[in-house]
Amino acid sequence: MKKLKSWQKAFELINDNKKFLIVSHKNPDGDSIGSEIALALALIKLNKKVYIYNSDPPPKRYSKFSKASLIQTEKKNFTEDVTIFVDCAEIGRIGKIKDNIDFSKPSINIDHHIGNTKFGTVNLIKPDHSSTAEIIYQLIKKEIPMDKEIATYLYIGILTDTGAFRYPNTTSHSLRVASELVAYGVMASQVSEFIWFTDPEARIKLLGDVLRTMNLYDKISIMAVTKEMLEKHGAKEEDTEEFIDYGLAIKGIETAAIIKERENGILKVSLRSKNSIPVQELAAKYGGGGHRTASGFSIKRNIEPFKKELKIELEKLIAKYHP
Ligand code: 5GP
Ligand code: MN
Repeated sequence: MKKLKSWQKAFELINDNKKFLIVSHKNPDGDSIGSEIALALALIKLNKKVYIYNSDPPPKRYSKFSKASLIQTEKKNFTEDVTIFVDCAEIGRIGKIKDNIDFSKPSINIDHHIGNTKFGTVNLIKPDHSSTAEIIYQLIKKEIPMDKEIATYLYIGILTDTGAFRYPNTTSHSLRVASELVAYGVMASQVSEFIWFTDPEARIKLLGDVLRTMNLYDKISIMAVTKEMLEKHGAKEEDTEEFIDYGLAIKGIETAAIIKERENGILKVSLRSKNSIPVQELAAKYGGGGHRTASGFSIKRNIEPFKKELKIELEKLIAKYHP
């Protein structure tokens, strides 16, 4: 018998079942939210029942898109036949909802992270794709009619995971898919406006304080966000999304880090690089992960000593790849 391709196996599960639980990672980003909603809208077109369930609500900037209200942080009155995981390299990424997931149910794992552990019954993993949305676009197009609304959520995923087509994961394929999505009617400039040009004043004032914490070393930028800084501006951690890009924006800087102080002495660390330094290697060393040029991890430490440790670790990484 001919071996079925992963996408064919995914459609077998979809066609043979009725109720789909769609799940993504904690602290969801534009790719996880866009991918989940696009997939949900496409499944609804096939008369399927869907429930999108995440550990955390969408950041405010994404709640401006009307279908973000489909995302639930509590599981009520829904018994799924199949679970679809999107944008999760490993099962731990889904966060605290893990206890409410029935792992005896079949699952589809759709993701673009290099180290995906292939935990699904069916695994659609494409690490050369900019975003999970780029994979879902191809999946949907095979069997379900695309429309402007589905296209808009897929576009959000590709747009945000490529940093508006600036990061090294931007390929001719991602640009072609984005172009096809715009041809379905996506209002590209309105999407960008919702995401990047409707910031609360507090976010920009907070940015001012965070930029003042920037330490610059040869090729390295490190910033920190304390709980006090967030409180001062009435801001939340989600308001610091993309601050790290300012560290990388500086000429000669190859790697940037931002350390965010969370509750109970936990630090959330984000790492970015321009291209040649695989920061994912360092994130993995601390139990995290991500992509070659964008990765992260969490750790229980104090900010100031950890800043020093991170500087040393980044110097070692740069010496290894940029001797
Ligand atoms: P960010 O720094 O924006 O939170 O995340 C950048 C990338 O690193 C994303 O692809 C995200 O999935 C990954 N990442 C961030 N934090 C963690 C983590 O704690 N564990 C793993 N495995 N990946 C992470
Ligand atoms: Mn992604």
